[in-house]
Order: sequence, then C-alpha cells, then structure tokens
Amino acid sequence: GGETDPSAVESEIKNHLLVQHWRKDFPILHTSLYGKPLVYFDNAATTQKPSIVIEAESYYYRHTNANVHRGIHTLSQQATEAFEAARSKLQRFINARHPHEVIFVHGTTEAINLVAQSYGRCRFKTGDEIIISAMEHHSNIVPWQMLCQQTGAILRIVPVNDAGELDINAYQNLFNPNTKLVAITHVSNTLGTINPVKSIIHYAHTQHVPVLLDGAQAIAHIAVDVQDLDCDFYAFSGHKLYGPTGIGVLYGKADLLEDMPPYQGGGDMISSVSFSATTYNKLPYKFEAGTPNIAGVVGLGAAVDYLSAIGMDTIIKHEQSLLNYATELIVNIPDIRMIGSATEKTGIISWVLAGMHPHDIGTFLDRQAIAVRTGHHCTMPLMERFGVPATVRASFALYNTKNEVDKLVNAIYQARELFK
Ligand code: PLP
Repeated sequence: GGETDPSAVESEIKNHLLVQHWRKDFPILHTSLYGKPLVYFDNAATTQKPSIVIEAESYYYRHTNANVHRGIHTLSQQATEAFEAARSKLQRFINARHPHEVIFVHGTTEAINLVAQSYGRCRFKTGDEIIISAMEHHSNIVPWQMLCQQTGAILRIVPVNDAGELDINAYQNLFNPNTKLVAITHVSNTLGTINPVKSIIHYAHTQHVPVLLDGAQAIAHIAVDVQDLDCDFYAFSGHKLYGPTGIGVLYGKADLLEDMPPYQGGGDMISSVSFSATTYNKLPYKFEAGTPNIAGVVGLGAAVDYLSAIGMDTIIKHEQSLLNYATELIVNIPDIRMIGSATEKTGIISWVLAGMHPHDIGTFLDRQAIAVRTGHHCTMPLMERFGVPATVRASFALYNTKNEVDKLVNAIYQARELFK
C-alpha cells in the first residue's frame, strides 16, 4: 500500500484517453447484446476492423474496381497501383528487404500449405525430418503431416514445459543430419507464450536448416522485423491484424522463393503458355495464380497504415498492461487453473475452472455480452499435453480496457456462484 506515484496516475489517464479514442475507430464496439455493451475478448480468433479498413474496401469497390496486372485501361491500372502499393506497405510493416518477398495468400493456413507443397514436396524424401512443436495450431501441423504422407518424411516434436514454454534443450537435441526444416509458432494462440524465435532460428541456421514462423498471433501484438529475426518464411493472416478475412501474407527470402516451383497453376503466374513449354512469371506473381483478393489486399494495406500511425510500441505497452492487470485478478479466482504461465506472453489468458465445463462458462459470459473463445483452439495436441479437453480463452486487442477486464472477472465470479 502507500501513496500512488503521480506519474503512474498521469500515464494511466493518458492511456485511458488513448484507448477511448481508438475505440471510436471500431464501429462494432458500439454494439449491444442482450441489452449490454459488447465486450470483445476473442481477438485471437479474429480482430474487429477499424472504419479506415472498411472504408478502404468500400472505396475500392465504388471507385477503382477492375482486374489487376491485365488491363491497359485506366481503372485496371489504378487497381494494380493500389494492389502493389499495399504490397509495399506490408513489406515496410514487416521490414522485408524486397516487395516481391511479400506473397499474397488467403491467410496463414494457405501460406503454410504453400511452403509445405512447394518447398517441401520436391525436396523432402523418406527419413527427412521436420521439427514442429507441441503448441502448434492445427494449421502448422496438418500440412506437414500431409507432406510426410506424400514424401516419407517424419515429424519431430519440441515438447512444452508446465509453464507452456518450449523446451529449448530438447529442441536442439532433435537436430541431426536428416533435419530439413523447422516450423514453429512465434506466439501460441492458446497460451500467449512468445517463443524465443530469434535464438531458435539462429540455432537452426548453425545446422543449415531453414525456419518457417507461424506469425498468426504475433503480427498484431509484436513489432515483427523479418530481417532482424532472419526467418526464412513468415506466415500471417490479415483478419487477425485488424484487416479483412480471406487475405494474408507469406513472406519468404527471395532466394528461397526463386528456387521453389509454383504452388498453383493459372493466370497471372505464367510468363508464357504453350503446349510445348510454359514458363513461369517472376516473383511474387509466380505464387499468385488467378485473380487475387484485390479489395482484401487494399483493406489490409489500410490496416497496417492504421497500426503504423498508432505505433506498435504503444499497442504493446497497452496490451501488456491489460495482460498484467487481468492475470493478477484471474489467478486469484478460487478453483481456477491457469493454462500457461510463460514469462514472455502476449495478451492471451487460458484457464479452466474446477467443476465447470468451459462451454458453460462461455455461454454464461455470452449472455453478459462478453465474447470469449472456449474449446481446444485448434491445438488438440496441446490440450492433451495439459490434460484438459478445452479451456476458456480471453485474448486482448488494442481497443480493450481495464473496465472490460473487470466485467469479465465479475462475470466469472457470478458463474462460479451459479454453477456451485
Ligand atoms: N496459426 C495460429 C497460431 C493461429 O492462431 C491461427 C488462427 O486461428 C492460424 C495459424 C490459422 O490462421 P487462418 O485460419 O487465418 O489461416
């Protein structure tokens, strides 16, 4: 106890005003459900969209719509310019060396499948090994299992400790001359654990093994610099980054991408087609077959403009303070078991309450207009590791407030009373 530091109070007030200001940018946050204002804590599943993103898509369809890279007419040129301008924004946002290292795909899932099928399928053979971890999302497990079935390669799994962190000694011990690729999540979608990816990558490179990072949960909550990380591939989804659904990015180092065969065939990815010899287009178009999600790309460009204007550092500071505040309150709820207590975390909290099924808690919270996710979070092997079928997960974004955390915590106490 004692006196409150005046500078801490001042910074608390500043932060409060900032967040209230940001909240105005998100129309859906002013929704009411069951007569109560929406509290949206399912940001790890998808984030809400600021007006600037919604308007960028709408403006594109109203004023610019045409196909890209194809037409001599003015609109087609304008659409192409908007599309390529967004690519440059994404390049700057992740600090890629070249714009053609940014490949537009549907999302993280497609990005990982692209690497598995294009990079892995023609290179890997029986007995080759791919290292993943026990905390991966199904979309960073199943594409590799499919590749293993096709090529005879095998998966090696980095174990997770009781705190929900990767066992780095075990990771290093998995390497041998058959190791061909590491595919690890930057941040766990279930636990919030931030993995020590820089040292993971550094070690793999000493063994001459490339690394793919699943950045789905990192991209909106960490300042990602692919050159500083030195990752070989980085995958993320626009919709978890305050952007539209159906659009995402695969970053790859240019020399790796150059060496990879196309993933899908069709228009745009070719240089010339004949029945004797078809030749492929250069990067990034080699990997962008067919008409892309142009409006989605434009919307995603607006999303990174929005985040850059606020500044990732400001967002991180706010989300960390929410995480600390919420963790302290939730840990102290009787009968609660926190799943994951890593020292480095983003704003994700997963828990189970003794005697209550997560779905019952989720349904109770929903009636209070509090949106959380319950279930296995597409990480069934991780659920098995912790011996639970499901958890309740609250995940924070830049627009969440301490007042909303208070509502969540109060509602959990009410649920405990009700289900006793
Ligand atoms: N990887 C992680 C860690 C995720 O959290 C998710 C999304 O739930 C994905 C991959 C898959 O992303 P998407 O469904 O957008 O392709």
